[in-house]
Order: sequence, then C-alpha cells, then structure tokens
Amino acid sequence: PSRSIINFSAGPSSLPYEVLEIAQRELVAYGETGLSVMEMSHRSATFSKIINNAEQLVRELLNVPVNYSVLFLQGGGNGQFACVPLNLMNLKPKKSADYVLTGYWSERAANEAKKYGAVNLVFPKPEKYSRIPPVQEWNLDPEASYVFVCDNETINGIEFQEDITQALNGVPLVADCSSNLFSRQIDVSKYGLIFAGAQKNFGPSGVTLVIIRNDLIGHAAKECPSIFDYKIQAGNNSLYQTPPTFSIYMCGLVFEWLKKHGGMESIDKVNRMKADAVYEVIDNSNGFYYSPISPKDRSRVTIPFRLCVDGKPNEALEKEFLSEADKKNNLKELKGHRSVGGIRAAIFNAISLEEIETLVFFMKDFQQLAK
Ligand code: PMP
Repeated sequence: PSRSIINFSAGPSSLPYEVLEIAQRELVAYGETGLSVMEMSHRSATFSKIINNAEQLVRELLNVPVNYSVLFLQGGGNGQFACVPLNLMNLKPKKSADYVLTGYWSERAANEAKKYGAVNLVFPKPEKYSRIPPVQEWNLDPEASYVFVCDNETINGIEFQEDITQALNGVPLVADCSSNLFSRQIDVSKYGLIFAGAQKNFGPSGVTLVIIRNDLIGHAAKECPSIFDYKIQAGNNSLYQTPPTFSIYMCGLVFEWLKKHGGMESIDKVNRMKADAVYEVIDNSNGFYYSPISPKDRSRVTIPFRLCVDGKPNEALEKEFLSEADKKNNLKELKGHRSVGGIRAAIFNAISLEEIETLVFFMKDFQQLAK
C-alpha cells in the first residue's frame, strides 16, 4: 500500500500506511468491544491491555533492562525540558546540571532548566552549530546531577554517533531522543533517562515516552506538579491523569509494525541506507548541494542542506527546488526550519527506501536541469 505523495515533515511526520489502515478499520469499533478506542475508559480492561502491550513492545524492541520504568506522559519534548530538572536537579547537593549545546533543542532545554537549578554549559554556545566537540574537551562537572544531550538535533541535523558515557564519571546521562528513538539500535543501559515525543518515529503527537532508571525516580522538587512527577506517574502506570489514549494505541500499532519489519536491527540498517543515499548525492554534487554539518556528526534522520550558486547558498534556487519538488514530484514538506533556512529532509521510519530513491532521483535531476 502506498500514497502518491511523500511527506518529509519533521513532525508530526509520516506514519506507516499499513498502520493508518489498521487504525481506520478499527476506528469506530475496536475488536469485540463495539467502542472506538477514543471512547473507552482508560481504566477499562481493554485499554489496560492496549497500554500494557505498548509498554511490552517498547521493552522488547529497545531491550529495556528490568530496572527501568517506561512511562507514557503528556507535555511533549518541551514538557520534558522542565520535567527533567524538576525531577533530577536534586540528585546532588549542588543542584546543578551539565548541558551540551549542539543545536536549537538542547539550547531550549538548557534555558528551561535554568528556572530550576544551575546550568553548566560544558562548552560555550558556538556561533554556528556544525559539529559536536570531542567529549574529551568538555568541561564536565563530576558534581553535576545529570548530563543533558539532545541525541538528534532535528533542526540542525546533528546526531551523536558515539557512546560518550565513559567520560561522564558516572553522572547519569539524560537524552532527548525525540527525533531518533526507534530509528536505530540503542543501549538503554547507558542512559539514566531517555525521552521522546512520539510524533516523528513512532506515533502521532500527544504522547511523550520516558524511559527512566528506577533509582532516578523519587527525587522531585517539592514544587514539581504531580502530573510531572516521575514517581507519581510510575506508581500509577502512567494513569495518574487521563492519558492520551488514542495516541498510545497508535504507538502500539507502530511498535507492532516495527517488530514485523525486523525490529531495531533491520530498521537501523534501512535508515542508515536511506541517509547514505541522500548524503551521497550531496557529497557528489560538486558543491551544488551543501551540508553544513561535519560528516562524523551528521544525522541519519534529519538532513538539512543548502543549494548553492558560486559556492554560496542561493535562496531563489532553493525556492525553485521546493516548488518543483512539491508541485511536479509530490515531494512535500522539504522546507528547512526558519532558523536555518534551506532544505530539510526528515526521513523517519515511515519513509521507505524506495521513497528515498524518488527524492535522490529528483535531486540529481534538478541539478542536471539547473546547469
Ligand atoms: N526535542 C526535539 C529534538 C525535537 O525535535 C522537538 C520537536 N520538534 C522537541 C524537543 C519539542 O517537542 P514538542 O513539540 O513535543 O514539545
């Protein structure tokens, strides 16, 4: 099954067509219940099965160790920017956390955290985000309560490729994986906490997945709102308040789909192939396409690039590229974020290798015709 358009939106993003079809079939009556999932009590036996099954699939797909809790929360990535310091700043008496600025989202997280404790930037904010300085050069504080990274900077196109935990002196690593969770294999045991909004790689918006090591639960500041307190949420199986039931159901369907497609090992491989195909066109274009990111730190899932004339980004050409892509080729939502301009291909899980071939063909063709 497929559609005529290819949607490169960075979020909310494409969902697997097969998943949408299942949801369509089940929309008005789920199973034998005669009810839509949207109409069910979150405390009903049927919904309990839905949320427990979703949690089980998270554990299975990501190989989550038993001493971690899996929470389905609300408030998105931005909610977690506050939740994390509200829950974890108190882990050490200094009430300070280390933040690693690699782009727009880590910067926003650091600014939010300042409301709740001291924020130490492990290196000064760079003028332009184009690389991750080597961890050996970071000014890490052994007394920090946690180290915060944005694992994939969705706008800037910078992604951590290496395990940095060795350098962290046992300080828990907190990672915003909003745009790359379920896009590759990951060793959860290296992290203290991982969070991600569902709306890029594994569901619709409205639900935020948190995977947290149990010893980090139970340290919230007293002013932390109850719905944002990991201890309260973990103690109530994410049902302290009415959760986003339909979004959780949709995530469950995507998890089944990921499993059916071979789980994280094969998803990881396909995503790597997709990214390689796009970067290959960029790198072999003689500077017509330009990636501002240092090759070793390039994202596999969000690829920003510019179109250049005489070695300089050219907005008129980019406009033409976007218009041709959209109107003549049904390649949608390729415009870069307003803060960096240019083009961005967000190639999350639901974009197939074949769809990437269509993009790559268009890029080559466009360059030919521009000559
Ligand atoms: N972190 C990252 C890496 C993101 O890409 C986004 C959203 N694009 C956010 C955080 C913010 O998420 P939300 O809009 O769900 O608050």
